[in-house]
Amino acid sequence: MTDAEYRDEMSERCIQCGAKCCKYFCFEIDEPDDMAEFEDVRWYLCHEGISVHIDDEGDWYIHIANPCAKLDKDNRCTIYPERPLICRRYDPDNCDASGNEYDHTREFNTPEELEAYARGTLGKKFDKQRDKARRKLDEKAQKKLKKRRKLKPRRKAGKGATKKRKPAGSAKRAEGTR
Ligand code: SF4
Ligand code: SF4
Repeated sequence: MTDAEYRDEMSERCIQCGAKCCKYFCFEIDEPDDMAEFEDVRWYLCHEGISVHIDDEGDWYIHIANPCAKLDKDNRCTIYPERPLICRRYDPDNCDASGNEYDHTREFNTPEELEAYARGTLGKKFDKQRDKARRKLDEKAQKKLKKRRKLKPRRKAGKGATKKRKPAGSAKRAEGTR
């Protein structure tokens, strides 16, 4: 079967399904096992189009809902003969539309869902450690701010204090007219 024939055959099916598999990408992430790692995953989930799931083998995945830029408005791949290997490997007979390839045991769509899961896993430790880390970072930011304020040059009172800056090039022009 040539690429063109395959494309023709596949297109019908793919157009009908709306090219589901070309509108996201997904990859494995480390399973979070402490407060800081849960906070990282919570941060992912603060972004639009992101979800995280755990598959039936206990592996964690991040799902990024972002359509491929090579997909046209009719849901056709515009680089079909040159499409990446991962697209070639994808089997339309066992895909998002036709098969039940992905079994999720758990899915997180919001930071709040993940937070609740983290509390369930780490117990009180999660909030305790996070409060401590937040305080530490806030103190650090405050110190930095104070330092910056101290370093800011103060405007001198008196003569010239309100003098406007010369526009760029005015010094040269002044010299030239002498
Ligand atoms: S391979 Fe499956 S999910 Fe992807 S566009 Fe075709 S029918 Fe849809
Ligand atoms: S390259 Fe083509 S087949 Fe692969 S995701 Fe993009 S549009 Fe789909």
